[in-house]
Amino acid sequence: MTDLIFRSDVTTTLVSSMGGDRSIIRAMMVSTNKDSTADEMEDAGVAGRINFLMKNRHGTPFEHAAFTFYSEAPIFVYREWHRHRIGVSINEQSGRYSELPPMFYMPGPDRKLQQVGKPGAYEYVEGDSAQYAGVQGSIRHVCHIAYAEYQAMLNGGVAKEVARMVLPINIYSKMYWTCNPRSLMAFLSLRTQRPPKYVHDDSEGCYYDMGSDHSFFPSKPQYEITLAADVMEEIFSQLFPITYKAFVDNGRVAP
Ligand SMILES: Cc1cc2nc3c(=O)[nH]c(=O)nc-3n(C[C@H](O)[C@H](O)[C@H](O)COP(=O)(O)OP(=O)(O)OC[C@H]3O[C@@H](n4cnc5c(N)ncnc54)[C@H](O)[C@@H]3O)c2cc1C
Repeated sequence: MTDLIFRSDVTTTLVSSMGGDRSIIRAMMVSTNKDSTADEMEDAGVAGRINFLMKNRHGTPFEHAAFTFYSEAPIFVYREWHRHRIGVSINEQSGRYSELPPMFYMPGPDRKLQQVGKPGAYEYVEGDSAQYAGVQGSIRHVCHIAYAEYQAMLNGGVAKEVARMVLPINIYSKMYWTCNPRSLMAFLSLRTQRPPKYVHDDSEGCYYDMGSDHSFFPSKPQYEITLAADVMEEIFSQLFPITYKAFVDNGRVAP
């Protein structure tokens, strides 16, 4: 029987990038024929202009730069990730043209297991030790059976595109994902989890602004996709520090 590999991670690495904060300023300032001044501009001038664009949702200047990420993730994560259609390019490993390796996602001990609440307002809480053991046992059992049947079909001469039909969605795939800062911010705003920017105080009858890095439209993404998104956000913050600050200061809304 083939040895299976179980992993609890979703990896994302930066392959290449183009541009930086001043690429956005150049694109913005061509409108007044001052794009040639972008490279000499002080950081404060760059920050003020980028904040203006972000706050007023002038989005197109944020499209003149690029990132290419390489990732390895289970197929159920890509099923969510691929829903982001705009301003992205994708190439993923094919289960028709390659034999998928025996590598499967297994929830780790940090992964909350129980869903409580109602649709649209779920919370996730820790599982107990019996639940963790049950989840791990079920996943292990099904993956062994599924992969053995997959290999039996391949060995019997069945096409990969047919044999793969038995494989579960926690099998790993890999892809290259290219985006621009605008489409990356759209992805991050939905696929990271941050507390709400505005919180209502019932006794005072007013809203409080909770400050930077709180979300105007808080999202509750699946934990496993946040593993990728949090790494991409860190890379974004390093390569586009001024743009990133404007994003978090303005409630994590993609312009
Ligand atoms: C917490 C969470 C739960 C979800 N639950 C479900 C679910 O239960 N079922 C489900 O099917 N999906 C679900 N989704 C996926 C979700 O509906 C989106 O498909 C996904 O988040 C991609 O968002 P997007 O369309 O804004 O991204 P993109 O496709 O990248 O689009 C970016 C922006 O471009 C514009 N745009 C794109 N396409 C069009 C268009 N055709 N017409 C007009 N404007 C357009 C919009 O402004 C859009 O916001 C969920 C997503 C999240 C984050």
